[in-house]
Amino acid sequence: MSVRFDAVNKAYNRPQIDVKRPSSKISDYYAANVFTTDVMRHYLSKDAYKSVLNSIKNGTKVEREVADQVASGMKAWAMEKGATHHTHWFQPLTGLTAEKHDTFFTPTDSCKGIETFSGSALVQGEPDGSSFPSGGLRATHEARGYTAWDPSSPAFVMEVGSSGRTLCIPTIFISYSGDSMDYKTPLLKSQQFLQKAAVPVCNYFDRNVEKVQPTLGWEQEYFLVDEALYYARPDLVVTGRTLLGHGPAKGQQLDDHYFGSIPERVYAYMLELETEALKLGIPISTRHNEVAPGQYEFAPVFDEVNRAVDQNQLLMDLMKRVARRHNLRVLFHEKPFAGLNGSGKHNNWSMATDTGINLLSPGQTPRKNLQFLTFFVNTIKAIHENSDLLRACIASASNDHRLGANEAPPAIISVFIGSTLTQVLKDISTKVKGKMDEYDQRDLTLDIHNQIPDVLLDNTDRNRTSPFAFTGNKFEFRAVGSSASCALPMTILNSIVGNQLVAFKEEVDTLIKDKKEAKTAAILKVLKKYINDSQPILFEGDNYSDAWAKEAKKRGLSNVKTSDQALDFFVTKKAKEVLIGNNIFSEHELEARHEVWLEQYTMKLQIEARMLGEMVSSQILPATIQYLNQLSESVKQMKDIGIPAKSYKAQKDLIKYISEHVTALNDLVVKMVNARKKANKLKDESKKAKAYCKDVKPFLEDIRRHVDKLELVVADELWPLPKYRELLFIR
Ligand code: ADP
Ligand code: MG
Repeated sequence: MSVRFDAVNKAYNRPQIDVKRPSSKISDYYAANVFTTDVMRHYLSKDAYKSVLNSIKNGTKVEREVADQVASGMKAWAMEKGATHHTHWFQPLTGLTAEKHDTFFTPTDSCKGIETFSGSALVQGEPDGSSFPSGGLRATHEARGYTAWDPSSPAFVMEVGSSGRTLCIPTIFISYSGDSMDYKTPLLKSQQFLQKAAVPVCNYFDRNVEKVQPTLGWEQEYFLVDEALYYARPDLVVTGRTLLGHGPAKGQQLDDHYFGSIPERVYAYMLELETEALKLGIPISTRHNEVAPGQYEFAPVFDEVNRAVDQNQLLMDLMKRVARRHNLRVLFHEKPFAGLNGSGKHNNWSMATDTGINLLSPGQTPRKNLQFLTFFVNTIKAIHENSDLLRACIASASNDHRLGANEAPPAIISVFIGSTLTQVLKDISTKVKGKMDEYDQRDLTLDIHNQIPDVLLDNTDRNRTSPFAFTGNKFEFRAVGSSASCALPMTILNSIVGNQLVAFKEEVDTLIKDKKEAKTAAILKVLKKYINDSQPILFEGDNYSDAWAKEAKKRGLSNVKTSDQALDFFVTKKAKEVLIGNNIFSEHELEARHEVWLEQYTMKLQIEARMLGEMVSSQILPATIQYLNQLSESVKQMKDIGIPAKSYKAQKDLIKYISEHVTALNDLVVKMVNARKKANKLKDESKKAKAYCKDVKPFLEDIRRHVDKLELVVADELWPLPKYRELLFIR
């Protein structure tokens, strides 16, 4: 049997797996494998507990002796959970998580041993990080990277199978010389920066605010494919997407999958995944079918950004592991199937105070609403000023397939705010003028207050086409790719909004000091100016329409469709001002990342081009030629026994049609190899990425077109690759 039909058979005959939850009450096992502050209180001395809590809350350092105590408490807890090993768990520039396990066991001289875990092992690790992408941050002779404990994200015990138990400690990853080589370090810096910038602005409205934290609730979209079918598709295994494949006659046209009843096999997967995730303190709250057949989504309750990012990284890892137990494979690629919806990872973002206020939630008093409007308008202004940076932070070879395609947000960054708030902003912009006395101000703030409904959440119109939409009490950054870590988009968002809030505070204070304006009047005046400045970024219409692309161009907004160019936005003067100026990255770190991301872009295209060439030459052409032989043989036989030529004309035409595609394919594969070789010679990463985009990538599409035509005519039993209908509909 062919590999394809063997796979189809296997996929078709999977037994239903029965999943048992530890208890019918999630609260019985939620966060059971997390070293939470409650657990900590139990396992640590009072002083150690206080010290860690202080570190979590205020970022203070945990002293060495205290670290010893914490390590010993953590070890005791983890061993009770069955852990034999510990690891620092970090997020290098691969975009994945990394771990290197060490055992607690330490041999002693008399052929015996004990379990140990020291404070220094908790606080700092030294994995040999020489093979992680670094963009020249670290010369190989000092190939050491350090990991350092991040107490603000809790340690957890990862369970693998019935006996693999490892204590995982979230850490940052930095080079010997102190440069960050990961996604977490800049994220933490951006969080601290935003906090420092936002607190003084909050204090205009409430003296009691001491802390502001950005919050993140991600929505993770993904596809599931049967394992046997997956392995019969080298392109899925190697590149994460189908490089070939004609769309099925029925795809998502009928919208019959979206929010439909969840297939039982997938349901079982979701149940087991959720159980594992919940035990690890990932508060998954939503599951449903997405638009494309085979596409699904998970979403949790939101959390503080750093923890939420870690949870998403951990979840993606878990999703892959659990899928294996169900003979499934998860596809995180942004566009695994041509012609069907791709997958995104919507990042819902807001800011919360330590007094329990969501700063992007309209309040119940005029003063609270002015606070809301302040953060709302400053965020819009930040996006307007830095839209290119926002575009850059979601750039990747895989997300390029999604951005600008007709079901995904376009590559043009714009902000949707809904009709109510559009009107409110318009009123501020027209009614704030001249010297405003107390009376004017009160009038206007009351006026604004009355316009904003208490619960905007249920009132906001939804615009699913916007890359950055206000959804009632948060902004939803929808253009983030499904395979990406949330860390970078969050780092950028925190940084640009922080940067904006610093400027805002300065302007308001100047008006108060120099122009003797009252505080409310000063705030309103600066907001008015920002509203006027930011008009070009506000867009309420259909972002997918051609008219918008034209309009956006008139407004001077960028529309950069490919990552080779979008990534260059990281090193513009403006980006450097914000990112280097506020110490989120050093110049060195930023340039290194620019290089790493360009290189990753090039390598992804290179791998796809190689894989495609191989599949065409070793699978598609042999199958097609076999079919050509069958056809020719049949024509020959018909001719031999004297059947009139017109009776086998259709077959001859088919032979001609197929042969033309075969010739074209051969030709294109050779040309693609040559284009690749030429691009490979370029030393400069930016030039190389651009050459790959311009000269190599078009061949991928051209080749695919021919193969997909062949798929429709070559005998089904000879076709070597599982077809879309099999990949998508066998569940
Ligand atoms: P959608 O309709 O787009 O699926 P939902 O209302 O279901 O949106 O919420 C999406 C996500 O937004 C959830 O993960 C939720 O936790 C998150 N979210 C809600 N409030 C906030 C907030 N203040 N900050 C960050 N994320 C939030
Ligand atoms: Mg969604």
